[in-house]
Amino acid sequence: MDFDVICPYCGRDKDRVIDSRASENGEAVRRRRECGGCRQRFTTYERVEKTSRLMVIKKDGSRVPFDSNNVLVGLQAACGKRPVPEQVKLKLIREIDERVHREFEREVPSAEIGKFVASLLREIDEISYIRYASEYHDFRTLDEFADELDQLKARPKNLPNQQRLFAAEE
Ligand SMILES: [Zn+2]
Repeated sequence: MDFDVICPYCGRDKDRVIDSRASENGEAVRRRRECGGCRQRFTTYERVEKTSRLMVIKKDGSRVPFDSNNVLVGLQAACGKRPVPEQVKLKLIREIDERVHREFEREVPSAEIGKFVASLLREIDEISYIRYASEYHDFRTLDEFADELDQLKARPKNLPNQQRLFAAEE
């Protein structure tokens, strides 16, 4: 069983594996993939998960193992009944999961995860973004929050543009 991976060029997730081989002295499997949408080729690596699991440092200083389900719960709450497709949310979670593991070795402050989610959500749905940001972004003052709203209002309106989020990777 093999899962489709989001194409780094066009953001679709319809690819086929054209080549699989051992890599890094057998510690990884390298798969060459071709996107069924734009025909670009890209490579994925499959490795054994590191035993030292990534820990999240919460605001109160406590540590819990990183679990993308927790991120999803916060995201679902922010989106509520907004018209954000379930698939888009799941893709966002995958993106966060990958980014957090790529950029942090052992521990990641929960505020950093919140920032990642907020920055992606902002491109998807502004209302959900504001809800999420007001819950997790820790705006210090009402002015900060008002500034953020002003910035949002000043942005060029090109939504919905959900594909861009996933195409922009790498
Ligand atoms: Zn593609």
